[in-house]
Amino acid sequence: KIAIEHLVKNFNKTKVLKDISLEIEDGSFTILLGPSGCGKSTLLRIIAGLETPTSGRLFIDDKDVTDSEPKDREIAMVFQNYALYPHMSVFKNVEYGLKIKKIPKEKRRKMVDDVLKMVDLSDQAEKLPAQMSGGQRQRVALARAIVKDPRVFLMDEPLSNLDAKLRTQMRFELIEMYKKVKNTFLYVTHDQVEAMSMGTYIVVMNQGEIMQKGTPKEIYTNPANLFVAQFIGAPP
Ligand code: ATP
Ligand code: MG
Repeated sequence: KIAIEHLVKNFNKTKVLKDISLEIEDGSFTILLGPSGCGKSTLLRIIAGLETPTSGRLFIDDKDVTDSEPKDREIAMVFQNYALYPHMSVFKNVEYGLKIKKIPKEKRRKMVDDVLKMVDLSDQAEKLPAQMSGGQRQRVALARAIVKDPRVFLMDEPLSNLDAKLRTQMRFELIEMYKKVKNTFLYVTHDQVEAMSMGTYIVVMNQGEIMQKGTPKEIYTNPANLFVAQFIGAPP
């Protein structure tokens, strides 16, 4: 499990995360929901180790990882802006994490082929990111995380750039994958349908604070305050 204790993040004088305490259960699909600028990406980046907290501690499986390197955390992150390697083909972008893990070449090829098929990009494997659409790049980013089969997935609006049909398809693929492997997901979305249909738990954030954590049903039928009710469109 991931345990966050009294996490504070300031950028200069701006208080972005204000004393966040949160537990993310092993094997849960936890959705992080909240308005633009409330601190979702910052929280994910801190969990991934890409940003250091101003204060507070972070534990993964009861081990304090607050000061450990990103590579020492069994986590894969899909970024809001994809962050692909521009000089590498789609195939190489996805393969890269497996090379680092020293997985043999033939096995790597099979794993990359399988995951590219899953995100429907088998015919794009030799392209460079710059030659692809936003939605295709987003799927490459997704494939790159999935192929590593990490304990924990941090996904920052991974489907936001896809059209309705692809989004429905990818949502389905992700849920199927989740059911099969039961990795832990922390998943940021603006999409209420995604939140309600995919989440084991929903965490609602506003202005750097957690408003409520609960199952989709709890949040909907028993919102903690007016903000939560209005944000998820439940009757107050
Ligand atoms: P969105 O839904 O628009 O992606 P978000 O919830 O992911 O929003 P964050 O990206 O975490 O929001 O940003 C939270 C706040 O922190 C914003 O006010 C933002 O301007 C500020 N912020 C984020 N990164 C930095 C930085 N490197 N330096 C200064 N301020 C930052
Ligand atoms: Mg963000």
